[in-house]
Amino acid sequence: MPDGKTHEVINAAVLMASIGGLYYFSAGYGNAVIATYLDTYTILTFAAAYIFATLFLSPDLDIDSKPYRRWRMLRVLWWPYKTIFKHRGLSHNPVIGPVSIVLNLALIVVPLLLLAGVSLQSLPSGSVIAAIAGIVLSIEVHIISDNVISRMKSAF
Ligand SMILES: [Zn+2]
Repeated sequence: MPDGKTHEVINAAVLMASIGGLYYFSAGYGNAVIATYLDTYTILTFAAAYIFATLFLSPDLDIDSKPYRRWRMLRVLWWPYKTIFKHRGLSHNPVIGPVSIVLNLALIVVPLLLLAGVSLQSLPSGSVIAAIAGIVLSIEVHIISDNVISRMKSAF
């Protein structure tokens, strides 16, 4: 499996390609319906969530990894995740991996927003969807990279 640095390089390359693709659609070159949902703010929200997920929300939160250690004192919030999931088990499943990480993040973020007096209904749905899409894509790229590089290594 690739190390943390390799994952970050692969994720960065996919982000660059994704931003290029999103700007292409937002400029109205592709589907006009997609273009109406894509503005610079939405694309930036997607990119910021993707970068955050690459650094802090990797499926490798199931071990004592760099993303896990980046949480510093707050890593205790991911301790149950690390304990429940065995490495490269369900955390690296293309469906359960992203869902479990997004749910664990929601268990952290939603109470903080409520404590801060933010009404969840007041959050702009476009930004929430863009952020979740960024997080999910980052996790999927990690899982695919793990699978592809493992297969390449076993082939040689
Ligand atoms: Zn991994």
